[in-house]
Amino acid sequence: MDAKKEQIGQAVDELAEDLFGVSKYLLDNPETAYEEFKAHDYLSQFLAERGFDVEKKCGGVDTAFRATPTGCAPSNPKVAILGEYDALPKIGHGCGHNLIAAAGVGAAAALRQVLGDDAGSIIMVGTPAEEGGGGKQLLADAGIFDDCDAAMMFHPGQQNLIGQETLGRTKFTLEFFGKTAHAAAGPDQGINALDAMIAAFNGISAFRQQMRSEGRVHGVITHGGDAPNIIPDYTSALFYVRGASIAYRDEIFDRVQKIAEGAALATGTTYKIEVAKPIAALDPMKRNGPLEAAVGANMDALGATPEVASPDVGSSDIGNLSHYLPSIQPFLAICGTDVNFHSVEFAAATQSERGRKAMIDAAKMLAMTAYDFLNQPELREQAAADFAAN
Ligand SMILES: [Zn+2]
Ligand SMILES: [Zn+2]
Repeated sequence: MDAKKEQIGQAVDELAEDLFGVSKYLLDNPETAYEEFKAHDYLSQFLAERGFDVEKKCGGVDTAFRATPTGCAPSNPKVAILGEYDALPKIGHGCGHNLIAAAGVGAAAALRQVLGDDAGSIIMVGTPAEEGGGGKQLLADAGIFDDCDAAMMFHPGQQNLIGQETLGRTKFTLEFFGKTAHAAAGPDQGINALDAMIAAFNGISAFRQQMRSEGRVHGVITHGGDAPNIIPDYTSALFYVRGASIAYRDEIFDRVQKIAEGAALATGTTYKIEVAKPIAALDPMKRNGPLEAAVGANMDALGATPEVASPDVGSSDIGNLSHYLPSIQPFLAICGTDVNFHSVEFAAATQSERGRKAMIDAAKMLAMTAYDFLNQPELREQAAADFAAN
């Protein structure tokens, strides 16, 4: 292995106990999308103590930060190391973002140390609200990545992967409006908003039969009525539609809007669809072959041999960012396929021996791949060409 990469590995190993501390602190203080104030302050402090100037609340997002190496002239090419740190409602760090943040700050701190005065070629960006909030889109829109040539993060998982497809996704609310009446004494006087909602769910179920295999629609009723003896005048639901391309995601969303319109017509109600704020749409991941090959070689060197990805995938705001600049999201396994993503068991796996090792390997893998990118002009050219071609 390249001597500098050996140094990177040593630097991460020396940080290991501190990084376990980061992941444990986040696990013990779970904060959901755009509420990650403790994580924001803790991670900012961690980086400030290790040679970074930290711009808090960057890009106008209260729980985002951008860390640049202190005293280093900004230089290009430049790599952004990303850290997520939002948790899930009720489940805490069931997506393992505590490990993403710990590996991210570990990679940044190790690179800072090894690159010395040349560390102006890296930044670390704390990216909030991956779970349903689309924080990376807000940061990209705010220009946070404008001077960067590549973005890299890791995600813990059930397999070692150089990357994975993600689905495009649109999040929206559906509401129906009717009229209350006594459900026994005057049912004919009412307009039933719950019947409309049930008709919409049934219409979507029928549509699923004609949906392509990568399409998904799933929703929950968030308000179904108030009492059995009142015809409900108001119902609401929260939905996600997903597709492997932006076009198919949008096509499914169009169909679902027509189904809602049909349900309203059939029941005499009115309806309203509102896409989620601040970010409704997640884009599918635009993968980058050369960068994924580079990270795969480093995974191999670390003994985390890349596997073939399972076809079942979700969505992420790294997908949005991947349309702005070449981006990668490799996975390292912290558990087997018997442990589900978004579960308390997955959160527990972040603290297991395997979880700790994956986090340390991830910090090394990211730092080594960033180092490759900064020192191999041909890799940069290939990554840029791949990005332009797709
Ligand atoms: Zn998740
Ligand atoms: Zn996640």
